[in-house]
Amino acid sequence: MRYISTRDQTVRIHAAEAIAQGLSHDGGLFVPEALPGLSAGQIQSLCAMSYQQRAVYIMGAFLQDFTSAEMANFAERAYSVKGFDTPAIAPLEKLTDDTWFLELWHGPTSAFKDMALQMLPYLLTASLEKTGERRQACILVATSGDTGKAALEGFADVEQTKILVFYPKDGVSAVQEMQMVTQAGQNVGVLGVHGNFDDAQSGVKQIFSDRELARELSDRGYFLSSANSINWGRLLPQIVYYVSAYCDMVNARRIVIGDKVNFAVPTGNFGNILAGFYAKQMGLPVDKLICASNANNVLTEFIQTGTYNRNRPFHTTISPSMDILVSSNLERLLFALSNGDDKQVAGYMKELAETGQYTVTSKIKAALDQTFWADFCDDNQTKETLRDVFEAQNYLMDTHTAVAYDVLEKYRTTTGDTAPTVVVSTASPYKFADSVLDALGQRGNAEGLALIDRLAEVTGTVPPQPLVALKGKQPRFDEVVGKDGMLGAVGVFLE
Ligand SMILES: *Cc1c(COP(=O)(O)O)cnc(C)c1O
Repeated sequence: MRYISTRDQTVRIHAAEAIAQGLSHDGGLFVPEALPGLSAGQIQSLCAMSYQQRAVYIMGAFLQDFTSAEMANFAERAYSVKGFDTPAIAPLEKLTDDTWFLELWHGPTSAFKDMALQMLPYLLTASLEKTGERRQACILVATSGDTGKAALEGFADVEQTKILVFYPKDGVSAVQEMQMVTQAGQNVGVLGVHGNFDDAQSGVKQIFSDRELARELSDRGYFLSSANSINWGRLLPQIVYYVSAYCDMVNARRIVIGDKVNFAVPTGNFGNILAGFYAKQMGLPVDKLICASNANNVLTEFIQTGTYNRNRPFHTTISPSMDILVSSNLERLLFALSNGDDKQVAGYMKELAETGQYTVTSKIKAALDQTFWADFCDDNQTKETLRDVFEAQNYLMDTHTAVAYDVLEKYRTTTGDTAPTVVVSTASPYKFADSVLDALGQRGNAEGLALIDRLAEVTGTVPPQPLVALKGKQPRFDEVVGKDGMLGAVGVFLE
């Protein structure tokens, strides 16, 4: 199987090249030229497998230049009980007969980004070897909080890599910031940026497009690489947990193979929900993908109207990992829904860059409607939902998951659909302990890491061990730069 660029189909490369390169030279994203199928018989076999085996099976179908022994080794190491606090890795928890939570935050950094970023370093280093790349990969990450820590944890002390993370100084939670600035490892760097996530992300994109810098770095033995979800190696591991959740629902005897389920997904950069779309395209019986946004509701509007318009105020919310106005992975969806029309996709992306908006054809809009449903909720609704579910059903969600739950309720009220639905739970509530305590009306005067103890005390739940361990750690990084200072910081980091 080859990978092609969403903006130019004539670019056709192997999986290892796509992963090593990250982004296509024409600015497009790499996508598989065809998806492997997933039959009822195959789903049946997957039901009997462990999470690691499911990962080998699904990912292996996309990565034909990797051997199954290689994939098995990666899966064992990426999804081990050393890094995850449950052997299920991605457990499915039942709330009611019709509402289930897929908990993707049992990994080392307590957010769903671990599902991909525990795997990516193995895929990337193997890809460098397969493509004969001798230079060191300098991984640049712009983060709204969770990706940064998960990438640092995944790449810390990984050979032939260095990693530099930029985060919006005032756009992440206290716990998230502590997680990043205390990161161990010889090859890591962390910098605050004055501004919001889009500032950090556009700064990184600018650095990637700087040809002079690329040449200079190459002379010094480096090339720039990305751990953001534009890399296919980030997206692919995420397909696994959609299939895994379906199997677990079969195993729980809630459905039989062939029954359709919905997924409600708290969405930012559109990476998570896109993996669900690919799972459906492969043949997983999924009906609706419910796209949930916070006050930054650019995706809600797009899915409801067919017009994407980033010209709007940026809101800082209590679900900061979804505070995004430009969702990079939407480009892959447009490519799929236009039946691989690279010219059309390139046109939309040009319009977006030049005017900040584009409107898709009625054909694409109709295809969108077949699978996607979207709505959003504001911070007050998020808090209310979080509190209600905890008080009535004793299940504690983080703020992002609460957005998805709220939007699922809106979906059910609007459509009357009663199909079993999986709410994709993307972070431990402890990662956003400040806002979760606010929602419960229980913050008191706790601050910083004391919020973790406070949340445990008032809810009777158990905090993830790595978050508790932050208390004994010293910050290693405290530098903050302006957006203009990001380029220079890369040079300094690599000295
Ligand atoms: C990254 C993140 C999201 C958004 O996921 P996308 O793949 O960017 O759409 C939602 N919730 C949490 C907790 C996250 O870390």
